Amino acid sequence: MKDLLKDPTLLRTQAYINGAWVDSDSGETFPVHNPATQEVIAEVASIGAAETRRAIEAAEVAQKPWAALSAMERSAVLRKWNDLILENVEDLAIIMTQEQGKVLAESRGEIVYAASFIEWFAEEGKRVYGDVFPLPQGSSRGIAIKQPVGVVAAVTPWNFPSAMLTRKCGPALAVGCAMVAKPAHETPLSMLALAELADRAGLPAGLLSVVPGAHAKPIGDEMCSNPIVRKFTFTGSTRIGKMLTAQCAETMKRVSMELGGNAPVIVFDDADPAKAAAGAAASKYRNSGQTCICANRILVQEGIYDEFVDELKKVVGGFKIGDGMDETSTHGPVITRKALEDIKSMVDDAVEQGAEIAAGGQFGEGGEQFIQPTILCNVTKDMRVFKEEIFGPVAPIFKFKTEEEAIAMANDTEFGLAAYLFTKDQGRTWRVSEGIEYGMVGVNETLISSTYIPFGGVKESGQGREGSSYGVDDYLEIKYICIGDLDS
Ligand code: NAP
Repeated sequence: MKDLLKDPTLLRTQAYINGAWVDSDSGETFPVHNPATQEVIAEVASIGAAETRRAIEAAEVAQKPWAALSAMERSAVLRKWNDLILENVEDLAIIMTQEQGKVLAESRGEIVYAASFIEWFAEEGKRVYGDVFPLPQGSSRGIAIKQPVGVVAAVTPWNFPSAMLTRKCGPALAVGCAMVAKPAHETPLSMLALAELADRAGLPAGLLSVVPGAHAKPIGDEMCSNPIVRKFTFTGSTRIGKMLTAQCAETMKRVSMELGGNAPVIVFDDADPAKAAAGAAASKYRNSGQTCICANRILVQEGIYDEFVDELKKVVGGFKIGDGMDETSTHGPVITRKALEDIKSMVDDAVEQGAEIAAGGQFGEGGEQFIQPTILCNVTKDMRVFKEEIFGPVAPIFKFKTEEEAIAMANDTEFGLAAYLFTKDQGRTWRVSEGIEYGMVGVNETLISSTYIPFGGVKESGQGREGSSYGVDDYLEIKYICIGDLDS
């Protein structure tokens, strides 16, 4: 891949621990595949528990002097990092497309989005304020100050390999924490390239270590059990998130969990069918359906159902599936052949129970990892596509009659991350937005993510919020100080 990059030194394959690039103690490496070609594009150091422990210990040493700097001094380093990321968008996008598969345009978008968390929190770190409380004793004053939680461990998924790091380390570093981060084994190169740029920006050694590995468990066990780690932040599946939360309970760590979703898109009769279809498609098929806030269940009121399906077919008909490096591709492959098989099995389950394939339905001819964007009609709540996160480019379109039924269907899931509705009725906008149990609601809009909003879910989609001014709270402790005897 090096020959594709303007700056080949951004392609790092060792771990970054305490400001140094290192191999694993065992010498073990693991392969990284290009999902479009299935070729091995790099061999990366496979880190274990001992190296993770060293990274955590180095973070503890680095964190105290970093926290003692002014927020303005920390901000200056972070802004430099942001600038370097933006200067290298093209190379970083190529690295991402090569290991993750998303098309170059989406990779460029993610890099800019990733940088925006560094830039935003570099500023927001300057606005961490405290409080003064009136006390019953006139000679005392109560004060609350906010301090960094300390050493943070982070684990991220493969679908947004850069932004899921910066959404965590942006606020953490800005308020004076240090971080040890583990990327997904499918996509370690993007995080390692960001670490290289952090190093060039002058981030002191130990403040951000990156520990890739073929075996997640020993790294996770060390992060969750080590008492130096005061906070654990995770983005990934609900199953793994629950397990890691339980592990963190042993040392009472602060925990943030950004987990899976089962997003409904509710389209009411009064909506514009073409706009609703365009919005639903943008949400459903982005990153080939592999985002936690992707439309998972499209619920359409009966009066507009057929028209909506026709409009969605038109949108899907304009897609071109192919290698993300080809600028004419609109959608890339899915992450692994196993992911493709899982998605296919959900479609097979639906078809066996009577669903009709209205578009697409081709899955990875010749062992490839491409799925034709698929639309399923005649689907019911008994099918797996209603209950499970599909995580692929398959849109099941359910029918409903009344607003109450739509709300009940939307809430009929253990997940509660993002939901969307299309309607022109203001009263309905409020009733439905307030009636559905989700952390985020898009009304006549499905592109809802940005740095400036509190991203996060309820129910089994997790806890905590990332982004916006709320995003710093997860990395701060509140300390109450009572100052007495002020009369003397
Ligand atoms: P996953 O299997 O849960 O993996 C996520 C991360 O957890 C990976 O880095 C994985 O490492 C690691 N991991 C697995 N077992 C571990 C252990 N015992 N200790 C420590 N780390 C461990 O999820 P995924 O399939 O990669 O990602 C897709 C999921 O993420 C979906 O459910 C999606 O909805 C969710 N997601 C949520 C958000 C959000 O903000 N709510 C955003 C993006 C994605 P390995 O790769 O090495 O196994």
